[in-house]
Amino acid sequence: MTYPWGHPRRFNAYPQYFKRTFGERVQKVSIDAGFTCPNRDGTVAYGGCTFCDNRTFNPSYCDPHKSVREQIETGIRCHGKRYHHPSRHLAYFQAFTNTHAPLDRLKALYGEALQVPGVIGIVVGTRPDCLDAGKLAYFQKLAETHIVILEIGIESCYDASLKRMNRGHSYQQAADAIHQAAGLGLRVGTHVILGLPCETQGMQIESARMLSKLPVDTVKFHQLQLIRGTAMLRDYERHPGDFRFDSFEDYCRRLTRIIEHLHPRIVIERFFSEAAPEYDATPIQWTMRNDQMLQKFERHLESVDSWQGRLAHIAPANQQPLRFGRHPDGSSDRGLE
Ligand code: SF4
Repeated sequence: MTYPWGHPRRFNAYPQYFKRTFGERVQKVSIDAGFTCPNRDGTVAYGGCTFCDNRTFNPSYCDPHKSVREQIETGIRCHGKRYHHPSRHLAYFQAFTNTHAPLDRLKALYGEALQVPGVIGIVVGTRPDCLDAGKLAYFQKLAETHIVILEIGIESCYDASLKRMNRGHSYQQAADAIHQAAGLGLRVGTHVILGLPCETQGMQIESARMLSKLPVDTVKFHQLQLIRGTAMLRDYERHPGDFRFDSFEDYCRRLTRIIEHLHPRIVIERFFSEAAPEYDATPIQWTMRNDQMLQKFERHLESVDSWQGRLAHIAPANQQPLRFGRHPDGSSDRGLE
């Protein structure tokens, strides 16, 4: 079977997307450039999003006390051992909100990254409410000569969830920011958390349909992990009945139902989060590395003969879904609700 993305994996996978676009692997290298975020410093709110602890995903080579160049060079050395020395890299401004500073400071930081040999572009993690017209115009100009990907976090398509996690913006704000950036020709990625309190599987499937209508190029899914010391953990301790944590196998089933409704043009960059055990207070822990989880999930997709976009509408001009019918394992979309 040939999938719309032209390779045999059952989802539109990130590494193949880069190989397709640039003819080889392009490795992201994370940077902590010392930003904070408007949801912590009072610009939008105090306290931050209730799930957030940036230490859980910042690689050990990221250190805001080191220059951008030093962090990239160390990251390139670390990835080189693991991925057979890819020659092209994207500087990933990952920690906190990487557009939360005056434009001149941003230009200096991004410019420093782009001067490192082998760095062909930047990926900038940010919030929907932190991209003004001046910054967008700068990114648009930069994208004429470099790869520029804006990662605009959505986290949830439901305002009640966004409010409960103290996100400080609505779904509509996120959708508007994505449309604005994509309208300027910029590549846009996003994140969505699966398993937020009171979000059912039906709501998660609807999220995939909503994402499919947005001009996003890539998406990262993360299962909800409860991190020690966060307000989300305290929320769980007060209202455990609002939360549902899956076994790894149930999560694979849930993910399958979700990505079946995700448009095949959207590249999936991640399916799993991986907080280190010292941070992780999730009641059900999977204790597997990302590559192991991914292999198992791909085997699951094969065993139930499913794939990304199996039940998605592929284009407004062609309103026929890719395939109708019940799920190959015999259950309906609502089976895990
Ligand atoms: S998730 Fe982003 S916006 Fe929210 S508190 Fe963390 S850094 Fe700030």
